[in-house]
Amino acid sequence: MIRVSNIKLPLDHKEQALTDAILTTLGITAEQLTAVEIRRRGYDARKKNTIFLIYTLDVDTTDNEALLQKHVGNQSIRPTPDMEYKFVAQAPTGLQERPLVIGFGPCGILAGLVLAQMGYKPLIIERGKEVRQRTKDTFGFWRQKKLNTESNVQFGEGGAGTFSDGKLSTQIKDPNHYGRKVLTEFVEAGAPEEIMYVSKPHIGTFRLVSMVEKIRAKIIELGGEIRFSARVDDLLIEAGQVTGITLSDGETIKSRHIALAIGHSARDTFQMLYDKGVYMEAKPFSVGFRIEHEQSLIDDARFGKNAGHPILGAADYKLVHHCKSGRSVYSFCMCPGGTVVAASSEEGRVVTNGMSQYSRQERNANSAIVVGIDPSDYPGHPLAGVEFQRQLESNAYLMGGENYDAPAQKVGDFLKGAASEELGSVQPSFKPGIKLTDLSKALPDFCIEAIREAIPEFNKKIKGFAKNDALLTGVETRTSSPVSIKRGYDMQSINTRGLYPAGEGAGYAGGIMSAAIDGIKIAEAIAMSINEQQG
Ligand code: FAD
Repeated sequence: MIRVSNIKLPLDHKEQALTDAILTTLGITAEQLTAVEIRRRGYDARKKNTIFLIYTLDVDTTDNEALLQKHVGNQSIRPTPDMEYKFVAQAPTGLQERPLVIGFGPCGILAGLVLAQMGYKPLIIERGKEVRQRTKDTFGFWRQKKLNTESNVQFGEGGAGTFSDGKLSTQIKDPNHYGRKVLTEFVEAGAPEEIMYVSKPHIGTFRLVSMVEKIRAKIIELGGEIRFSARVDDLLIEAGQVTGITLSDGETIKSRHIALAIGHSARDTFQMLYDKGVYMEAKPFSVGFRIEHEQSLIDDARFGKNAGHPILGAADYKLVHHCKSGRSVYSFCMCPGGTVVAASSEEGRVVTNGMSQYSRQERNANSAIVVGIDPSDYPGHPLAGVEFQRQLESNAYLMGGENYDAPAQKVGDFLKGAASEELGSVQPSFKPGIKLTDLSKALPDFCIEAIREAIPEFNKKIKGFAKNDALLTGVETRTSSPVSIKRGYDMQSINTRGLYPAGEGAGYAGGIMSAAIDGIKIAEAIAMSINEQQG
């Protein structure tokens, strides 16, 4: 096929306009065009009242070769690359050892799935519960303030992104098209087909739940096994080579190939790995608050008269401000038409995050507004970042009234430095609930100063962003892992052979897609190592 990119058409163009644009771009007649597939559809909303759709298309014609010759050198007309995923190995007959995967979030799911598809029958160990039971526990926490420390927003089947907006965009370079493999698997598991081509795909919480179940069934059908409510409490290491794990119930399982896909919140597991001597370093992350506005305000600011257009959906935003102090403040994990959620996994601590459903029809838009933190802000131990996060979360618990309500403040009051006493037009979506207060004590002074400087700057890009009644809820601390568990070119820990640190928790991903892609890479590395060792 021929890939034709940068076809630009008005938002409300007729279907025929797309065909006409292809014919003009390629200089062919309608008879010569035999097939068209939309590969990507994005939009250009820089001028909000004149929004354009930008297409990348794969087309077939009666003579592709001749057309490619005719347009040689034109970067917008090229042969369609082969994007089909190809397995790098097949399990040897008489497989002597089953690889282990610790964690069943996006990284562990894809690692487990690809290993199973290659015939390695992985055993996957997940500390949390199956997704339906986990959903009950998580919603139970939001409604009744009863936290289950092993079954919550962070832990359980599906991993941290299960109760989320399910945004699937990623900035990572992907020359091998692993992302396409991930999306293909997601669609087979029930994700909307449009995720294959829209520029900002998202799935939303409810669909994610059933997708995770379908992928689990597929892994099991291929000979894999998944154990829930099984926490890895110890790693067996002999002469620098991992040889197995011990579970919380004392059971020992042997393996010399272990994918470590534990996410950024498994603080007890980080400690265990550190105690066992697995090499890790503190790494930068970010902390801040969630901000809520009426979604209509964001839609108007971004899309003007086109607000509410079905192709555009609820508007998102991405903001960054470089402060005079040298710190950066940026929006993170923006959830259009969603809710702010309680994302604690430890007792006596308050953590915020955001989620939405596929329809994104809730009243408010929310996003984290966070400040970059560097290990030099809490020097010392490789796990000092975990302690830093914990202190902020415990402090937020105290400020919220010691009952999992989150401390909150109106933006106007925050900028003035006055405690909020009553809500304005923006109603909080956070469950269990909020307590209005003065958030200036919720983060270190340098963070407060940075956020106070950034919000008026953001207001220049999104009119109304700094409105008095917009609401801040705190604290957002789990933006990414506070540690990096270093691995070498062969994807193994640099000092513990056979251990494959992966995904967000090890510092190799930031989001659903990049974690899932990292899972595929780890599966490939494990498969090739097993084959090499078995000859
Ligand atoms: P995780 O998903 O964290 O999975 C790790 C798994 O390991 C967990 O299930 C955990 O229970 C298990 N585990 C940990 N320790 C052990 C142990 N000792 N033994 C056994 N099992 C263990 N990203 C996006 O791209 N888009 C979004 O819209 C988005 N929204 C989000 C909303 C929320 C509320 C949250 C919390 C996160 C969101 N994210 C989003 C981030 C995204 O979820 C993570 O980047 C992603 O899940 C990381 O994948 P992972 O597999 O590396 O780790």
